[in-house]
Amino acid sequence: MTLKTPELLLPAGSLDKMRAAYDFGADAVYAGQPRYSLRARNNEFRLEQIQAGIEEAHARGKKFFVTSNLLPHNDKVRTYLRDVEPVVAMKPDGMIMADPGLIMMVRERMDKGNWPDVPIHLSVQANTVNYAAVKFWQTVGVARIILSRELSLDEIEKIRQECPDVELEVFVHGALCMAYSGRCLLSGYFNRRDSNQGTCTNACRWNYTTRPAAVDPNTGEAMAMPMDGDFNFTKAQDDDNSAFAACGGSARHPLADQVYLLEEKERPGQLMPIMEDEHGTYIMNSKDLRAVEHVERLVKIGVDSLKIEGRTKSRYYVSRTAQVYRRAIDDAGAGRPFNPALIMELEGLANRGYTPGFLERRPAQDYQNIDSGSSEMRRSQFVGEVKATKDGWAEVETKNRFQVGDTLEVIHPGGNRTVQVTNMKNLDGEEISVAAGSPLRVCIPLDAPADGALLARLFV
Ligand code: SF4
Repeated sequence: MTLKTPELLLPAGSLDKMRAAYDFGADAVYAGQPRYSLRARNNEFRLEQIQAGIEEAHARGKKFFVTSNLLPHNDKVRTYLRDVEPVVAMKPDGMIMADPGLIMMVRERMDKGNWPDVPIHLSVQANTVNYAAVKFWQTVGVARIILSRELSLDEIEKIRQECPDVELEVFVHGALCMAYSGRCLLSGYFNRRDSNQGTCTNACRWNYTTRPAAVDPNTGEAMAMPMDGDFNFTKAQDDDNSAFAACGGSARHPLADQVYLLEEKERPGQLMPIMEDEHGTYIMNSKDLRAVEHVERLVKIGVDSLKIEGRTKSRYYVSRTAQVYRRAIDDAGAGRPFNPALIMELEGLANRGYTPGFLERRPAQDYQNIDSGSSEMRRSQFVGEVKATKDGWAEVETKNRFQVGDTLEVIHPGGNRTVQVTNMKNLDGEEISVAAGSPLRVCIPLDAPADGALLARLFV
């Protein structure tokens, strides 16, 4: 039995990444103007690039959605219609929006026939978590709802049943916030770079130290506690942990009822009070979403679009995720069982540890990476891109170090394979044994098809 398959939607941080997404199996991409989307930095999409992207997408039979999803203050509302009018005139396949006021203003122009009727997709920033909210947004002319990331598979299924005639989109891969998406003030607080204006500094992933605190009985403020010279906070915590044997079940650890002060590595002396309620604390480092093993269920539920996060990520990330999720969707649509090897392929990407997020319920600690704030690769490392091929040799632009003897995975839209690097030359034709990092051009023997391939060094 074959099932209707959802669209595979990838991020396009640039035209080059858009092409990679399409080459490796995406049906659609999303990109947006820096001033009105949540990517103010590292974003090349000015009007000219958006026009080029839409034209190229349509020529390939693909879709191109424009993100316009920040929550604007008055100043940006004033300029919004003027700035977005030329984008709507280009007839993208959808406008991803979050703010009710902007949606109303845009719909008014479309309903009066002044603007082309471009479908409006409600951004995840609007935090739609129930079917009543979905129905509301339908009544104001929204064609697709990008559901909140904080929903379980069962909740998504219920929304599908209650709302059969609206398009539903679900995130399946990428970074997660520690707050409801778009409801976080950390970055604005630390750097005056507001996440909701597209300039998040990922402050939730920085390196924090916890210090014990006392509460001022007069003001209720948290105060640093004087510590004697040999006080060791980790040891104090360990002692308390071992003294409290009943922790677990419904019991609450006594340490959770204390007040603490956080100190960020780069801001010594700036102590910030932190407390925990029954839901946990609110400043942590989330693992990354990976829901490839849930694609089959999402296809059966009848979701219309599966989305991957990451407009600032590399071309390698875009290619790899597009290829893996394409295969998962095609397998599910054709009734083939899920291939667990796809999980391992995603280990080849830098990640902060993976979690299926809220799609399945798990112990709270499974959502957070408390060991490290940086991303790691556990299976392979991206080392280069093939820029040209001739007579069985590939000219490689290097991204990371690799050497003769390494085993490389050749990642190509036509299929992947592994090869061993038997020899290597520089562009002058001289034998070398190591490509020492980025950016360099080296040549290695490689059979076709290899044009445009990405190369990953497998860890042994
Ligand atoms: S600081 Fe972290 S939780 Fe806050 S918006 Fe940025 S990524 Fe999300």
